[in-house]
Amino acid sequence: MANENNSRKAILVTPELCIGCRACQVACKSWNQLPAITTKNNGSYQNPPDLAGTAFNIIRFNEVPSKDNPVRWLFVSRRCMHCDDAGCMNICPTPGAIFRTPEGAVATNSDKCIGCKLCVQACPFDVPRYDEQGKMSKCHLCFDRIANDMQPSCIKTCPTGALKFGDRAELVTAAKSEGYSTLYGEKDLGGLGSVYAFKEEPNLYGMLENPRIPSSVVFWHTYLKPLSYIGLGGVVAAAAIHYLAVGPHKDDKEV
Ligand code: SF4
Ligand code: SF4
Ligand code: SF4
Repeated sequence: MANENNSRKAILVTPELCIGCRACQVACKSWNQLPAITTKNNGSYQNPPDLAGTAFNIIRFNEVPSKDNPVRWLFVSRRCMHCDDAGCMNICPTPGAIFRTPEGAVATNSDKCIGCKLCVQACPFDVPRYDEQGKMSKCHLCFDRIANDMQPSCIKTCPTGALKFGDRAELVTAAKSEGYSTLYGEKDLGGLGSVYAFKEEPNLYGMLENPRIPSSVVFWHTYLKPLSYIGLGGVVAAAAIHYLAVGPHKDDKEV
C-alpha cells in the first residue's frame, strides 16, 4: 500500500459541477492514442456504455426523478480509483505488471501482464479491461504526465472544475471547506486516489456502497501468491489462484 504522505496525488471529482460534455473522455483518448469503438444506442446519452480497453474514463449519465423537471441528469466520472489497498495489485501474480508510482497512481506494464484476468475478480469497482493484445488496460492517472509536472489530460481539459488534480490531503481539505459533507473514498480501501465530493447521497449517483476486496482475494494474496515467488511460476500460480478463487473459466463479456 502507498503511505499517506505529502507526495500522494489524487483526482478530486465534484459531480455537481459536471455538465456532461465528455471532454475528459476525448482528452484521455487523445493523450493515450486510443481508437474509437463502435457502440449501440441503448436508450441513454451515455456513450460508450461502460469502460473498455480503449475507454479509460466515461461519464455515467444517471437519470433520477425530480419535482421540478421531467428528469434530472446526474453526471459522474467513472474511472480507476487508484486504491491505496488495491485488490488488482494484491492478486496480480506477475511482479511489475501492476505497479505503484511515487505519486500513488496504480499503473500497468503491458509487457509484463500475462492476461490472466485475476485483477478483474479482485477489483471492487469493476475497472480492469483488456486491450486487443489481451493485456490489462485502465486509467493510469497519466503517470507519464504527472511525473513531469503536467496535469492529467482529462483534468487539464475539464472546463468546469468538476475534475481537479493535486496533493490529496490539500484537495480533501479544500473540498470540506467548500461544504462538501461526503468525501467518497476519503477512507475506503485505505483511501482512494480518486475522491468524490458530494453534498447529496453518493448512491444517488450510483456509487458503490462500502467497497471491499473479495475475501477470496485477501486469502490468496496472503497464502498462495507467495508461491509464485518461490518457484511455482507466475503462470501456474495464476491458474491455480484463478481456479480456486473464481472457479472454472467462463466466457467473459467485454464492453
Ligand atoms: S479501482 Fe480496481 S483497478 Fe483501480 S486500483 Fe482499485 S482495484 Fe485496481
Ligand atoms: S488520468 Fe489520464 S489515463 Fe486516467 S482517465 Fe484521465 S486522461 Fe485518461
Ligand atoms: S470534462 Fe468536466 S464537465 Fe465535461 S464531462 Fe468531463 S468531468 Fe464533466
